[in-house]
Amino acid sequence: MKVLVLGAGQLARMMSLSATHLDIQVSAYDVATQQIINPVTFEAHSATLEQAIADVDAITAEFEHIPADVLSVCQQTGKFYPGAEAILTGGDRAKEKALLEKAQVACAPYALITEKPHFLAAIEKLGKPLVVKTCQAGYDGKGQWRVKHDDEIETIWQEMSEFLAAGTDAAPHAIIAEQMIPFDREVSIIGVRDRSGQCRIYPLTENQHTNGVLTLSIAGKEKSAIQAQAESAFSALASELDYVGVLAIEFFDVNGTLLVNEIAPRVHNSGHWTQQGSHVSQFENHIRAIAGLPIGDTTLIRPTAMVNVLGQENIPTNVLQIPGVTSHWYGKAAKPGRKMGHINVSANSLHELGERLADLAEILPESAYPGIAETSHALI
Ligand code: ATP
Ligand code: MG
Ligand code: MG
Repeated sequence: MKVLVLGAGQLARMMSLSATHLDIQVSAYDVATQQIINPVTFEAHSATLEQAIADVDAITAEFEHIPADVLSVCQQTGKFYPGAEAILTGGDRAKEKALLEKAQVACAPYALITEKPHFLAAIEKLGKPLVVKTCQAGYDGKGQWRVKHDDEIETIWQEMSEFLAAGTDAAPHAIIAEQMIPFDREVSIIGVRDRSGQCRIYPLTENQHTNGVLTLSIAGKEKSAIQAQAESAFSALASELDYVGVLAIEFFDVNGTLLVNEIAPRVHNSGHWTQQGSHVSQFENHIRAIAGLPIGDTTLIRPTAMVNVLGQENIPTNVLQIPGVTSHWYGKAAKPGRKMGHINVSANSLHELGERLADLAEILPESAYPGIAETSHALI
C-alpha cells in the first residue's frame, strides 16, 4: 500500500517511519519546492504531484496551509483523509470557531475583524487584555498580537491592516480577537477516528509553551473528570467533521473547565509522547485510519514526557544514558527556534519520571530547554 502526505516535514517523516513496519510506503509532497520526496531520506522522486496522487491508495496532510488547488485535486480522488474541509477548517480560525459553535463546544469569547471599527468594538466588548490572531496564517504563536494597553492599539492596528490588505477577493484575510484566558494550564487531546466512525482517544497531555512554541508535554497525570470533558469535545468535533485520522484539540484548563484554544486536523507535536508512552503511536494510528486498517490501542502504558529540541545543530546524544530516554531527530537544517527533534522520557511512575527529568535537566541547559527542572520538582 502507498500513502502520499501533503507536506514534507517531521510529521510526514514520523508517519513514514511508523508506516514502514505496516509495509506501507509513504511519499511526501514538499509544498515549497513542489517536489515529491521520501520524507525520511529526503531523496526526490521523479514523479509529478499528479502522478503521485494517481499512484497512491490514500492521501493525507501534515499541515493546514496547503494551496487550495492542491486540496481540491486531492479531494476529487475520493482517497483524501481527513479531507479538504477538515484541513481548511484547521487552517482558518473563523471556520474553526464556526465548527465549535455548531458542535456546541466551548471556546474563548471572540470577535472577527476585517476593519478598524470591528477592532475597536472587539476591545470594547471583550475587554483587555486581548489576544489577536490572523485567521489564515500562523503557527508556533506567529501572527499574533497582545493588546494590553490603549496606547498599543494604533501600532497593532497598523500591523493588522497590513495583513488584512494582503488578502485577495478569492482568498480574503481576516483576523480574530479573543479574550485573554487566565488559564491554570494548557492541555490537549489526541484521538483517532477510523473510516467506520469508531474513535480511540489518548490520555490528555499537559503542555508548556515558551514564547508561543511548545517546549514540554507530559502524559499520565490526568483526572478522569477532565479527561471526560476532553473526550466529549473530541467526539463532538470529529463526528461533526466526519473525520478520518488523527485529530488534535488544544484546550485551556480554567479551574477544571476546558475551553478549546484551537484544533489541528493532523498528528500533533503534543502527541509525540505516544511513540514511547502508548501501545500504538499517533503516527501509526493516523496511517492505519487513513489506510482503512483497524486503529490501535491508545492506552497509556507508562507516564511519558516530551521535550522539544529547538534550534540546536545536533542531537544531544548524551541524554541517552538516562534510562527511559529516546531521541527523535528530524534531519532538518538548523535555524534559531526551529523544531529540530524531540526527546521522550518514559518511566514506571510519575515520581520516577520526575527523577529522570531532573537527570535530564542536569544535562540540558535551561536557556535552550526551559521548564524541565521545574516540572521534575513538581513530579517528585
Ligand atoms: P500552534 O503552533 O499550536 O499551532 P498557534 O500559532 O496556532 O500555535 P495558538 O495555539 O493559537 O497559536 O496560541 C499560541 C499560544 O498563545 C497558546 O498555546 C497560549 O499559550 C497562548 N494563547 C493563545 N490564545 C490565547 C487566549 N485566548 N488566551 C490566553 N492565551 C492564549
Ligand atoms: Mg495553531
Ligand atoms: Mg496552538
